[in-house]
Amino acid sequence: MERFAIVGFGAAGYHALKGLRAVGCDARVEVYTETDLPPYNPMLTTYYVKGRLDYEGLFPFGEMEQLKKELDFTCLPPGRAAVDAGAMTIRAADGTVRSYDKMLLATGARAFVPPVGKLPENRVYSMRTVSDAVRLKRILGTDALRRVLVVGASMVGIKIVELLTERGIQVVFSDLAEHIFPTAAYETTSERIEAGLTGRGILLRFGKKVTDAWEENGRAEICFSDGSRETVDAVVECIGTRTAVDCILAGQVEIDRGIVVDDHMRTSVPGIYAAGDCCQGRDLSIESTRLIGLWANAVCQGETAGKNMAGEDISYPGNILHNITHFMDMDFVSFGDISLPGERRVFVDDKDRYAEATISEGRVSCVNLLNLFKNSGAVKNYMLRRLYRHDTPPDPQMRAVLLKSGLPAELTALLVGGEKR
Ligand SMILES: Cc1cc2nc3c(=O)[nH]c(=O)nc-3n(C[C@H](O)[C@H](O)[C@H](O)COP(=O)(O)OP(=O)(O)OC[C@H]3O[C@@H](n4cnc5c(N)ncnc54)[C@H](O)[C@@H]3O)c2cc1C
Repeated sequence: MERFAIVGFGAAGYHALKGLRAVGCDARVEVYTETDLPPYNPMLTTYYVKGRLDYEGLFPFGEMEQLKKELDFTCLPPGRAAVDAGAMTIRAADGTVRSYDKMLLATGARAFVPPVGKLPENRVYSMRTVSDAVRLKRILGTDALRRVLVVGASMVGIKIVELLTERGIQVVFSDLAEHIFPTAAYETTSERIEAGLTGRGILLRFGKKVTDAWEENGRAEICFSDGSRETVDAVVECIGTRTAVDCILAGQVEIDRGIVVDDHMRTSVPGIYAAGDCCQGRDLSIESTRLIGLWANAVCQGETAGKNMAGEDISYPGNILHNITHFMDMDFVSFGDISLPGERRVFVDDKDRYAEATISEGRVSCVNLLNLFKNSGAVKNYMLRRLYRHDTPPDPQMRAVLLKSGLPAELTALLVGGEKR
């Protein structure tokens, strides 16, 4: 009987296991996890902190014992596993070493949390894991926080800003970048979002870096690169993630910013696959590989890897950068890469709504929609279909749906074909 290992049991690891069992694979599977928790959804951590979701809700696939019965696998003692790709072996946290026929690396990413000046660790928070969420929820429960600095104008950062504001905590929101969502939003879109945030009492400190920080009079003093200062009770760092690839012995597997994979989720080492946030798969908009740290991407890559480990021949065509985010009564949707060349065109610009896109060769290669949320699924569908090179004939029904939900006629025509009226 073949022997497989899955290292990391989040969305990608879980779906790989589910995928390989779904095609009838009876290999012996051993799962390496950092904690004894069942697979969880990092996206839900902020909902748990807010109190919109109970603790069990963080684990959408159920309890570990139940999963073991359903998917027939064993778990090694929790802790960081270490992979020797050359020898096809893994050292578990208890020091035991096992060899495998095939392995999946699904170790995800970790929040990047550098020290903030001289602040002690108990004043610095982040948001990725269940324990990050439990820790933030606990301090919020003590009412010790009156004013908080959120560093990182990211999708995670805005969720933290929202939950703190809902609790009546004054928020200072900062980033080295000049604008919010620097990799997903055009500057013009960012400016509209920032106006909405300022209108809700959030203090924006963009375009500056935290240069120093220390404790003073029971609070945290923060210094920025322009010489300005803020006094807060805590700092939440949301400045991004780093792929969790430190578990692989150096120089064995091709790693760029993440583990490089092909469309079958194969790495540069035969028998070793990778999926999810730790890997760099195909980005359809640039015809190359890139990190795409998104849940659905991890699910599809995991399932593809699992089926291929089982001996199937399945390819995953790839994805594009995208975000669909709701915060503080605003809906921001972005598809594609804002830095791609093309003609930039604004389609809607009124009091509440904004739509801008990059047009290249008569097609939409990137789009930002603000408060035009109802269209997001259909817009993404059309962009992906185009990028997957499917011939997409004009679809009158879809056109009607998009127009009815408020997407401008000209943008609709660029997406689905047909008349520009
Ligand atoms: C606050 C927040 C909001 C988000 N919002 C969205 C959103 O709106 N939409 C969206 O699409 N995505 C969102 N994401 C991203 C999404 O959660 C991830 O893309 C997805 O969870 C990636 O799944 P994964 O399985 O690749 O990695 P992970 O979920 O990171 O799982 C990897 C697992 O591997 C384990 N591991 C790591 N190293 C080792 C080792 N050496 N040995 C054993 N185990 C190891 C880790 O402990 C972890 O459990 C959000 C993330 C966060 C944190």
